[in-house]
Amino acid sequence: MLLREVEYARPSSVAEAVRMLGAHDGARALAGGQTLVNVMKARAAAPDVLVDLNRLPELREISVSGDTLELGAMATYTQLLASSEVEVARPILAEVCGMIADVQVRNRGTIGGNVCSNDPTNHLPPLLVALGAEMVVLGPDGERTVPASDFFLGVYMTAAGPGELLTTIRVPAGRRDAFEAITLGADGTCIVSAAASLSGDAVRVAIGCVDAVPILVTPASADEAAVRAAVQAAGLEPPADVHASSDYRRHLAEVVAVRAVQKASAAS
Ligand SMILES: Cc1cc2nc3c(=O)[nH]c(=O)nc-3n(C[C@H](O)[C@H](O)[C@H](O)COP(=O)(O)OP(=O)(O)OC[C@H]3O[C@@H](n4cnc5c(N)ncnc54)[C@H](O)[C@@H]3O)c2cc1C
Repeated sequence: MLLREVEYARPSSVAEAVRMLGAHDGARALAGGQTLVNVMKARAAAPDVLVDLNRLPELREISVSGDTLELGAMATYTQLLASSEVEVARPILAEVCGMIADVQVRNRGTIGGNVCSNDPTNHLPPLLVALGAEMVVLGPDGERTVPASDFFLGVYMTAAGPGELLTTIRVPAGRRDAFEAITLGADGTCIVSAAASLSGDAVRVAIGCVDAVPILVTPASADEAAVRAAVQAAGLEPPADVHASSDYRRHLAEVVAVRAVQKASAAS
């Protein structure tokens, strides 16, 4: 289907991008376009102005500051896969980006677009919640930092509101992480996913596809029984669809959570 008529703007700085987003009620940031253009084609979204972030190299930077990995929101999955900073500081990010769809999607899709679209089946929202990431959001009133666990508000809704831009994602360094999912086909859409991260005795597991936002649970230990108990205590009421009933998703949530924690425990 053809797109509805839409204005197109290409800012030359991040400040100009924020000004443009704030100047029009119907303005939307355009990152890789892998979700936005598809929902526009389906007429599920009809922005008046697309503010294209693709010529802002400062939003694609990947760097390490102390023990923190700083990822520009426009860094693509392919960039993350090839990044030596990611490999050293938090290799799970590259591993999971390598699971997303196909080469075309990985070449265009960005970490910022993935989290700002917050499709509950996306790989990166639960991962960033489990890793304890922080999102840097810039708007007309300045910059603020939002923990990933507070960033996701609903399907396609995040703390980066109208007129605001996600500029950077900060991820603490670490290696005891894992991501497990049951997918449609080898690299397909997740039916249920779980990201696990261990730090000392602390265990964080974020479960995807069982609610509008990733569900964070913190088992008392990495033992299978503790992980199962924590998932059960979350009282999940997953959606049912053609791929899985609610009961089946609830069952899978426990299974992938246990697998992810076991794999994270074995990581060094
Ligand atoms: C065939 C196919 C299969 C896919 N399979 C998977 C999969 O298995 N797992 C998975 O995780 N994803 C999958 N995706 C989605 C893909 O990862 C998208 O790239 C991603 O969801 C959106 O990223 P994007 O850069 O393309 O963002 P866009 O589509 O450009 O933008 C998405 C939304 O985020 C907003 N936005 C983007 N950047 C910012 C920013 N910096 N600040 C504020 N708002 C912003 C946009 O305004 C828009 O509302 C698939 C996509 C396709 C086409």
